[in-house]
Amino acid sequence: MKSSQDAILKDLVLIGGGHSHVTVLKKFGMNPLPGVRLTVIARDVHTPYSGMLPGYLAGHYEFDEAHIDLRPLCQFAGARLYHDEATLLDLEAKRVVCKGRPAVPYDVLSVNIGSTPSFNGISGAEEFTIPVKPINNFIDRWRLLVERVLDSPGPHRIGVVGAGVGGTELLLAVQYRLANLLAERGQGTDSLEFHLISRSETILPNIGGGVRRHFEHLLTKRGVHVHTGAEAEKVAPGAITVTGGKTIEFDEILWVTAAGAPPWLRESGLDVDEAGFVQVRDTLQSTSHADVFAAGDIAAVVNHPRPKAGVFAVRQGPPLTENLRRVLVGRPARPFSPQRAFLVLISTGDKHAVAAKWGWSVEGRWVWKWKDWIDQRFMRKFNELPEMAAEEATALNPGLADRATLSDISAIAMRCGGCGAKVGANVLTRALADLEPAANEDVLVGLHAPDDAAVVQVPDGKVMVHTVDYFRAFIDDAYVFGQVAANHALSDIYAMGAGAQSALAIATVPYGLEAKVETSIREMMAGAIDVLNEAGATLVGGHTSEGPELALGFSVNGLADRETILHKGGMAAGDVLILTKALGTGTLFAADMQQKAKGRWIEGALKSMVQSNRQAAQCLFDHGASACTDITGFGLVGHTVEMTKASGVDVEIDLDSLPVLDGAQETVGLGILSSLQPANVRLRRAIRNLNAAGKHERYPLIFDPQTSGGLLASLPAERAQSCLRALLDLGYAKAAIVGRVTAESGHLEPITLISRSN
Ligand SMILES: Cc1cc2nc3c(=O)[nH]c(=O)nc-3n(C[C@H](O)[C@H](O)[C@H](O)COP(=O)(O)OP(=O)(O)OC[C@H]3O[C@@H](n4cnc5c(N)ncnc54)[C@H](O)[C@@H]3O)c2cc1C
Repeated sequence: MKSSQDAILKDLVLIGGGHSHVTVLKKFGMNPLPGVRLTVIARDVHTPYSGMLPGYLAGHYEFDEAHIDLRPLCQFAGARLYHDEATLLDLEAKRVVCKGRPAVPYDVLSVNIGSTPSFNGISGAEEFTIPVKPINNFIDRWRLLVERVLDSPGPHRIGVVGAGVGGTELLLAVQYRLANLLAERGQGTDSLEFHLISRSETILPNIGGGVRRHFEHLLTKRGVHVHTGAEAEKVAPGAITVTGGKTIEFDEILWVTAAGAPPWLRESGLDVDEAGFVQVRDTLQSTSHADVFAAGDIAAVVNHPRPKAGVFAVRQGPPLTENLRRVLVGRPARPFSPQRAFLVLISTGDKHAVAAKWGWSVEGRWVWKWKDWIDQRFMRKFNELPEMAAEEATALNPGLADRATLSDISAIAMRCGGCGAKVGANVLTRALADLEPAANEDVLVGLHAPDDAAVVQVPDGKVMVHTVDYFRAFIDDAYVFGQVAANHALSDIYAMGAGAQSALAIATVPYGLEAKVETSIREMMAGAIDVLNEAGATLVGGHTSEGPELALGFSVNGLADRETILHKGGMAAGDVLILTKALGTGTLFAADMQQKAKGRWIEGALKSMVQSNRQAAQCLFDHGASACTDITGFGLVGHTVEMTKASGVDVEIDLDSLPVLDGAQETVGLGILSSLQPANVRLRRAIRNLNAAGKHERYPLIFDPQTSGGLLASLPAERAQSCLRALLDLGYAKAAIVGRVTAESGHLEPITLISRSN
């Protein structure tokens, strides 16, 4: 994670990781602008490159070859990546409203969110077709379509609505891929029938006559039924009614019509054109709001209308970067005039392509190779990032802020740290104003009536369970970090078989301008309060100070019945061990810091970390768990040893059964380990058969320190399977039986590692 020590003067927020924003990120990474914090709000962490999308569907490229991974790119750019979806702009307050987190404030905003095929109010189109965008949804649904075609004998009538470049290319790619997959199974293509539906009188209405004829001929040769002048008017399950009332029946309908814009841009009050695209000047600034930029499909350049194509989005990347930098430092933006003619490269699915420009065209296998070379070269720019030398402190550009703000920044550097470097009361009051801790009758004095300390009542017959945890941020996303920190702290309570009652927060926020400090606190605490409230733990107070890095911890109080408290020391010989979450957060976040983790791996790890152990604990308890602990910093071995020692037993851990987070095996394989790993590895002396098991690929992961890890519990063998089924049903998708408890052997080492290979 990039250190947040630099003073933050301005926030540049990028919505969408489209073709223009990837260039902005790369260029900011190469040439940072000190004092400016970049934040990317992206619905998809892997951005498909439009040029390679048909090739990906046709099976010529793997997923990673055809997608730009925003995570390492954002790391390179020093940008925060918020995996979320913008749903509205508050242009007055300058904030982006998101689906799953507090609104994100900006000083300068840029929108590059692409477009989606428009349904134009056609009844049934949204419900009964597979739209090509959002692309991730499309890819998931495309995989299901493939399964349906391969698993049933057919017939399969596949209709593609929209005969522009996208629709035509997509149909040819899909046809090629399905034929290949069927051939691999020794089946022919008799069961397949393809239809291309065009509302205009020709296919490829925006493309020159020569190329169009080429594709008309090709489609006929490939047996595709082409319906021109056939505007879809109504879609029902398995059928489209087109102009003139003709109904065509289909098993699958793919929707690739003209680009449309989401309604929230208009609703936000930005100037938009008739179709809802953001109207921008030649500088790519909104015609209504100069601090908002737009690029790619979502932008309508008033003076230079162009077709919606990735090539224009790519070309807008450099001028967009330049203008964002200029506006951030108070300089006027420069106009940019896009090229008129551009090279159209359309692939035909079978590693052939057609190229067209200025009225001429060429085609063949070599054209596909040429296109492939261009596309691969483009992708390398974003997927192979240079190592950058450590940043030297550079002077802040005086254009970033007024004189008073700059002197505030100098004052921050001189902070004395008196009063424990406490954050100012006004900042705290504002940042915490929207927090609504869960109501709780036991809280006599809490945030609703602040005092020197909170007063919480312990109900009759209950005992109180205390725990505390605190750690620094390992991701540049304060909201998600807040969620993880709260979950991590609560797990100790659950592991004891208790329920959470109240919590105190202890937070550190990086030095900075009040407004920026306030945002960090608000986002972090909003994430935490969501989790605490859900857990029934009322936040009753806390302490916030300034420091070099964002950090958060909680002291949580829980309540339990004295008789049912779960200890580490209850394991009995014959019990079975269950682990509720996968291992690997340590190595994955170490890899993330080195820009070597794939975005989807980190997203998977975060999903696991924000999953509460609450229901898992209840489930383990209901199935007679005899001992339990949560797996955190000492790793699986460290925490298991604590249990064996306390219980006076030995255990066998089955390495083959250990659940592992996606990507963790790969990062461990690359030798990327958490900085805590060496300390944890010292406990290898607790392993009896080190020589035999030490070479197993999972071996390093048993020492991997976990943040917000799973629960490890022992329970009677006869109840283990039903407990596991219940955990899986509750959504603990990686829960597994990972070993068994044996009688104390008298050996010094309590743990035996077993696997098929030893
Ligand atoms: C099948 C097909 C083939 C095509 N082939 C080509 C081609 O060969 N050449 C070509 O030039 N064009 C092609 N196009 C057109 C091309 O895909 C688009 O013009 C291009 O993707 C637009 O790029 P963009 O940068 O504007 O947005 P996109 O590339 O669509 O990126 C936008 C990003 O924003 C994110 N996003 C969307 N909404 C939100 C939100 N609310 N909040 C946060 N994030 C959001 C999305 O996750 C997405 O990653 C093709 C289109 C299709 C359908």
